[in-house]
Amino acid sequence: MPLIELAKKGLYCALADVYIDPWQAVPNALITHAHSDHARGGNGLYICHEHSVPILAARLGKINAQGYAYGKAFSCNGVKISFHPAGHVPGSAQIRLEHKGEIWVVSGDYKTEDDGLSPAFEPVPCHSFITESTFALPVFRWKPQAEVFNEINAWWAGNAADGVVSVMMVYSLGKAQRILQYLDPGLVLSLFIR
Ligand SMILES: [Zn+2]
Repeated sequence: MPLIELAKKGLYCALADVYIDPWQAVPNALITHAHSDHARGGNGLYICHEHSVPILAARLGKINAQGYAYGKAFSCNGVKISFHPAGHVPGSAQIRLEHKGEIWVVSGDYKTEDDGLSPAFEPVPCHSFITESTFALPVFRWKPQAEVFNEINAWWAGNAADGVVSVMMVYSLGKAQRILQYLDPGLVLSLFIR
């Protein structure tokens, strides 16, 4: 039997009796990160990176959650489990499961470019890797983030010079913090001083 299988409610490790990002309510859920397509309501226990605990509570209400630091292993029915940086959003983690020397890793959402906000993606050696591939098609080609943020700051500075208010619509968890982090602080200051 594989360490992780695809079951009716999601990816399931029968030995540990835990699901990973289940899409239906289960007693024990390992959660890669707090985005709603990975962390749904109704689970008995949420086990996740420690930074995801308050985010999950804010999004889902009262929940029973256990948080762990990156790399801190714990045992679940003899299966060794740990969370590793995925570089996606604060608290995002790949989940590593090990049993009798066999190692599986479930990536969750991840990005390989360090955004300076979440700890950078860490390759985790394993025998089996279950990967997300949201933007894997060759049609998706992203510019380096520095280029994108330079464009955003130039656009904003141009608008400010023209007396035009700039409004950006971004997703609340991850994107918003990333944009805020790279907004030109000199321009923020000059707008405040005005
Ligand atoms: Zn996500």
